[in-house]
Amino acid sequence: MTFNHISTEEKQRALSELRSAKELFASRGWFPGTSGNLSVRVGDFDANDFHFAITASGKDKTVHTPEDYLFVDREGKPSEPTKLKPSAETLIHCEIYRLTGAGAIFHVHTVFNNVISEHFWNRGSVPVDGVELIKGLGNWEEEAQIEIPIVPNYADIPRIVPEVTAKLQAGIPGIILRKHGIYAWGANAFEAKRHLEAFEFIFEYVYRLELLKQGR
Ligand SMILES: [Zn+2]
Repeated sequence: MTFNHISTEEKQRALSELRSAKELFASRGWFPGTSGNLSVRVGDFDANDFHFAITASGKDKTVHTPEDYLFVDREGKPSEPTKLKPSAETLIHCEIYRLTGAGAIFHVHTVFNNVISEHFWNRGSVPVDGVELIKGLGNWEEEAQIEIPIVPNYADIPRIVPEVTAKLQAGIPGIILRKHGIYAWGANAFEAKRHLEAFEFIFEYVYRLELLKQGR
């Protein structure tokens, strides 16, 4: 689908959803040092042809400006003329959309998601056992046990992409980059936000539980 065939209203809606999510997450301190990035997909999805709006690189996400977002294609290249540069991590968004057909992807760096990724790095995933908020991830099984995958973090983003391809798991709408942050996604911005909040709750829970176990 060419970008020009996507309606203006749909593009505006994506930008408005990004603005709301950005404001909310900024109020929680989830964008330290201009880190983090958010995207919302527009138009029909084809794994080989799609577009999404994403935060521009290096902007202070606690304020709103006319230069906050741009639209890019499946290769992370601008869909229309702009001087803005997409977030450095856009290629990770591209790969998650390609694999999942999601409608929105939110990425934040928090102390809890960083500490927990390092603590469970050797295991390769964060084990979560029977926590109610697993339902927030769309898994309604009683006493569900899940493993949230962790992938290595490299300065060279294209090197991270195949790691995401290899470790992304059906049924787990998120992946953690080691000592870096979480990518959470959903069918739309509402669902991606719910998933991100559930993940962050779970990370804090697991962190605190691990501390209690150490004190035994
Ligand atoms: Zn990041």
